[in-house]
Amino acid sequence: MTKVAPGTDPSGGRPVVPSHGVLRPLGLGEVRVVDGFWAVRQRLNGAATLDHGRSWMDKLGWTGNFTAVRAGAGEVDRRGREFSDSEVYKLVEAMSWEVGRTASTDRDREVTELTELIATAQAPDGYLGTAFGGPGQRPRYSDLASGHELYCTGHLLQAAVARTRTGPAGPLLEVARRAADHVCDTFGPDGTWGVCGHPNIEPALVELARLTGEQRYLDQAGLFVRRRGHQSLPQHHFGWSYYSDDVPVRRATVLRGHAVRALYLACGAVDVAVETGDGELLAAVAAQFDRTLARRTYLTGGMGSRHTDEAFGDDFVLPPDRSYSETCAGVAAIMLAWRLLLATGASRYADVIERILYNVVATAVSDDGRAFFYANTLHQRTRTVDVPTDEQQLGFGGGPRAPWFEVSCCLPNVARLLASLSTYLVTADDEGLRIHQYTDADVDTRLPDGRRVALRMRTGYPDDGVVTVRVTATDGGGFPLTLRVPEWATDAVLVTPTGRRPAAPGPVTVRHAFAAGDEVRLELPLRPRFTHPDPRIDAVRGCLAVERGPVVYCAEALADEDLDTLRVDPEHPPVDADGGVRVRARFTAVAEGAWPYGPTPRPARESPRTDLRLLPYHRWARRGPATMRVWLPVT
Ligand SMILES: [Zn+2]
Repeated sequence: MTKVAPGTDPSGGRPVVPSHGVLRPLGLGEVRVVDGFWAVRQRLNGAATLDHGRSWMDKLGWTGNFTAVRAGAGEVDRRGREFSDSEVYKLVEAMSWEVGRTASTDRDREVTELTELIATAQAPDGYLGTAFGGPGQRPRYSDLASGHELYCTGHLLQAAVARTRTGPAGPLLEVARRAADHVCDTFGPDGTWGVCGHPNIEPALVELARLTGEQRYLDQAGLFVRRRGHQSLPQHHFGWSYYSDDVPVRRATVLRGHAVRALYLACGAVDVAVETGDGELLAAVAAQFDRTLARRTYLTGGMGSRHTDEAFGDDFVLPPDRSYSETCAGVAAIMLAWRLLLATGASRYADVIERILYNVVATAVSDDGRAFFYANTLHQRTRTVDVPTDEQQLGFGGGPRAPWFEVSCCLPNVARLLASLSTYLVTADDEGLRIHQYTDADVDTRLPDGRRVALRMRTGYPDDGVVTVRVTATDGGGFPLTLRVPEWATDAVLVTPTGRRPAAPGPVTVRHAFAAGDEVRLELPLRPRFTHPDPRIDAVRGCLAVERGPVVYCAEALADEDLDTLRVDPEHPPVDADGGVRVRARFTAVAEGAWPYGPTPRPARESPRTDLRLLPYHRWARRGPATMRVWLPVT
């Protein structure tokens, strides 16, 4: 197979390349996932999900829109929602990372072909969008609140960044630069004083500035961040908070409103803060995210509990049934946590990334890579139903994984994350390397002082808690190797070339003059455990959940068991049982009544205690129609 020439990023490609920060991300050419939990998902992404997304976007006319707007006379025959361009861009981004990961010439050709398609729709002044400005369409930027034009442009820029960092700088970068110039001309200091209802242009402009060195793009991103929060967008029936336009970014105390919008904006604000040395802005966003994690996040790491406005609820409003937890919000939260990890080095952000990866990202996609969850409920009361593989679904809350939704933001979002996942595992710091996520991976990079280091990480994680890191090549001399002990691992052990020692949660550093063949081993205790909710989360008071390592477990019923009547025995801790986890439980049949309230507790008939097998939450709804719950009421 002919290899695609490496791109402009010597590391092989990274989604985020800050010029400052505690940590420097390694690229696709430096870290390769070779086996295990995530390798399976990366291969599936490359072998099935990308083609699945492409075929649906062709079938529904989303790719065809780019030629339709340039077709000439008459009204534009445009298909799909106003933001469908963004899905094509996200797919191109995912395919570009896949080219970087695999050097596939077929995929490379496909990106070239899609680039030509996209370029046909670009107006002479650089504007690019298929939903506005054409014959019979509304004028450009006439609906900033919900038109998604700048949001789409942001995804175009991110696709071009991915393409350029994994392949030769080419036409897509030129298309993106002209589009970004048009944005700066239109919305710059002397232009329209506006922001997009759906943030995303902000982090995209910063990354394009990092790639091209163009100060103007960074300045424009900073302007968009500063303009947000002054209620310049029209009042929304969900309030200005829906698009984070209620309070300036710097003054806000928590993420609120539409979850994906809030998270993308926060990503852009961190990027601007890092590039401009604005420590106050960085601290403000970090504090908002920390409070959001403490009060507005599901056990799975999922964010956004409200269906109607896809939004964060108030503090501790985290009902498990019908929990929204959009897959895109999971991806966006990883993007934000990653930026904060790079900027601050605080390992709790890597803990968050791990939680979301195993419990939102891994849950979203079906075993064949051709169906996905949009919302990720923690409690399914009515049995899911199978849906046809050739129909798109309208409603995207609850129910099964579907091949396609009318709004299909989540599938290409997961695809771009999975294709670039190896860049989220390991970073360099001022002296050495830090490993943040554990999976079978090979690392080959250079330390800040230029010395080469190669590592081989092997583990059965997350089923098994032993992680072995072997130095396979080194130019000699010592360097610090830092590993992350997850917050749940209270009695981890670190084995180094000089001995064995306990390792507390947080970063643990081994300083050693490593030689090839030296090993560091981290032993993480992977016992199933009960997890209690904060008592202020009313919806799950009196319930326990079960976790094992980073993986959340659930009870699933395929047949007659009524999970609404399930009670778990808190006196019997969960135990490992043939690939799953077992708890002691009983089913408590409640007498039916005409009115579900009364002066005394409703009479209940308890079944004998029984062993109940739980399965990883990410495995639910894969064996057929099912009901499911994560939070288990106690006896
Ligand atoms: Zn989505």
